[in-house]
Amino acid sequence: MEPFIKSFQYNFIRKQVMHIVNSKATVNDADVIQAVKSIAEERVLALFPELNEQQIQLLTPIQDIKDKEEAESFLVTMKKYVIPFKTLTESTIKKLFPKIKKLKAPATEDIDLRETTYISWRDAQSNKTFIVADYRGKLVGLVGTFHSLNQKGICTICNGHEEVGMYTAEKKGANKDSYVKRGNYICKDSVQCNINLQDLDRLYAFIQRLKN
Ligand SMILES: [Zn+2]
Repeated sequence: MEPFIKSFQYNFIRKQVMHIVNSKATVNDADVIQAVKSIAEERVLALFPELNEQQIQLLTPIQDIKDKEEAESFLVTMKKYVIPFKTLTESTIKKLFPKIKKLKAPATEDIDLRETTYISWRDAQSNKTFIVADYRGKLVGLVGTFHSLNQKGICTICNGHEEVGMYTAEKKGANKDSYVKRGNYICKDSVQCNINLQDLDRLYAFIQRLKN
């Protein structure tokens, strides 16, 4: 079976699995636990507009999870079917950011590409922070600056309460050659931000506001 789960969907599934495990640990009522499991299964299946028989068989054992060990092994199996983020080559980077000279592709060896919906990195030479994300099936790039706030706040992309900073990008204005600066608070740690992501709505809105 080909990978068919997107990273944010995997995060959603993991959250549902953790919810089942936590309910088991704190609730005694078997009916309540069964209800939690049924809702989890329903929500997980609803993530996918279309599923074949094999895919349904892969996801439905969420109902049978009894403890933390089973939860972990279920998630390990799920992970195999997550579509990894594309490896960013020098030529892809050149196409995405044609105006930036000598921009290097980000080092992604240490990143789990199956837990990646967007990649963010700071380029020392230009002092800019670049973001690459899959936007409705197409890779898009943002160029901006990131200023850490050294405090917690709500991230525009993942909605998590994390250490945030202001990400500012220049967007073309209504008139030719005019630019407006647009800023949003986002997570300082993009790896954590990616783990928090359970839907794409906020990320897409963020890209729409900031991309040219
Ligand atoms: Zn975030």
